[in-house]
Amino acid sequence: MSIVIPEGQIFCTFTMSIIKISQLKDNKCNLVLYSALLFRASVAILTRISLIEFCYYLARKEVIMPLLNKLIVTAFPYIPKVIVGQVAKRYIAGVALADGVRLVKKLNNKKIIATMDLLGEDVKTVAETEEVKKGILSILRSIKEETLVSNVSMKLTQLGLKINKDLAYSTIRMIVEGAQNLGNFVRIDMEDATTTDDTLAVYQHLRGEGLNNTGVVIQAYLHRSEADVRALVKSGANIRLCKGIYNESPSIAYKGRQEIRDNFLKLLRIILENGCYVGIATHDDYLIEGAYTLIQKLGLKKEQYEFQMLLGVREKRRDQIVQDGHRIRIYVPFGEQWYAYSSRRLQENPQMAWYITKAIFIH
Ligand code: FAD
Repeated sequence: MSIVIPEGQIFCTFTMSIIKISQLKDNKCNLVLYSALLFRASVAILTRISLIEFCYYLARKEVIMPLLNKLIVTAFPYIPKVIVGQVAKRYIAGVALADGVRLVKKLNNKKIIATMDLLGEDVKTVAETEEVKKGILSILRSIKEETLVSNVSMKLTQLGLKINKDLAYSTIRMIVEGAQNLGNFVRIDMEDATTTDDTLAVYQHLRGEGLNNTGVVIQAYLHRSEADVRALVKSGANIRLCKGIYNESPSIAYKGRQEIRDNFLKLLRIILENGCYVGIATHDDYLIEGAYTLIQKLGLKKEQYEFQMLLGVREKRRDQIVQDGHRIRIYVPFGEQWYAYSSRRLQENPQMAWYITKAIFIH
């Protein structure tokens, strides 16, 4: 198929330039993109030129999906919850503890270990904090009763960090002690940068009190992370290393894909060379291969590290990691408070636009 109307070609070039710019400046170009699309639609109606041809051209250049993804990320808050729920099902085990238990059993049968997460964050009342604590302690008991190979992950804002720091500390302390009595482990997820100092302080304080069955998370996109890692390895910390999911300011975070990857591998090297246990939390082939190389170079045993992935993401790659002889842990979230988590997951899915469109028009 060829483009017969010159306007089509001019517009394609124009749009391609915009797409290129928008890849550089993620948020600022949405307005331009909308205007460009509106302009194109108006021209198509006025001149009756082939919109299909235009779409075909974009499809060949593999730009339609990234473009639609950008538009949908901007429009995300306006997408009905029922549509988000339909598409986000793959990322969560369900709403009840029994759903989480069932899923972890399935994973364990495939030699995959898990970390269970009771969904929820940023609680507003002390009563909610109490509910979350009870919920996490029930998970820990179920893991024991059902002989699952799983630990738990949780967020400090779930335990009232934004209400009262002492409340959050005393609550997590009870959870970590409960886990210790049951022979289990608690991972403290890392949230946005307003919580980094408090989260690291809580972790160090727990360790200072002799509670060693706990670990923390480091985000490779933060400029501060190298200093944080260097401090953590001194006390033999157990670290999950990830890229980081929150939209932080360029004044405190790396924004480029490759610079985040480079920092990830640099931090991974520091952690491993200092003999600390690490959860290598990524679905990025570049980082998985980089980790393989490092593991081989340092001659590590598989008990010294684990890979980690999220439920519903890159399952073939996950199975390949198991076949390659490494340990892998899957993050298994469940609960009523699924929206915030699912929204973050969906927005980093390169095929989000396709899934949302399918949910609206096909289901
Ligand atoms: P990306 O470049 O984002 O992804 C690589 C490839 O994986 C993509 O090209 C795509 O093919 C696929 N992919 C990735 N995400 C999805 C998706 N949602 N749906 C479909 N395909 C996808 N971040 C925090 O800030 N704090 C935490 O505590 C935290 N804990 C985490 C725990 C685990 C176990 C994992 C795996 C991640 C965690 N993250 C956390 C999220 C992390 O920071 C990244 O945002 C996320 O893992 C995506 O980065 P990536 O390394 O997989 O690379």
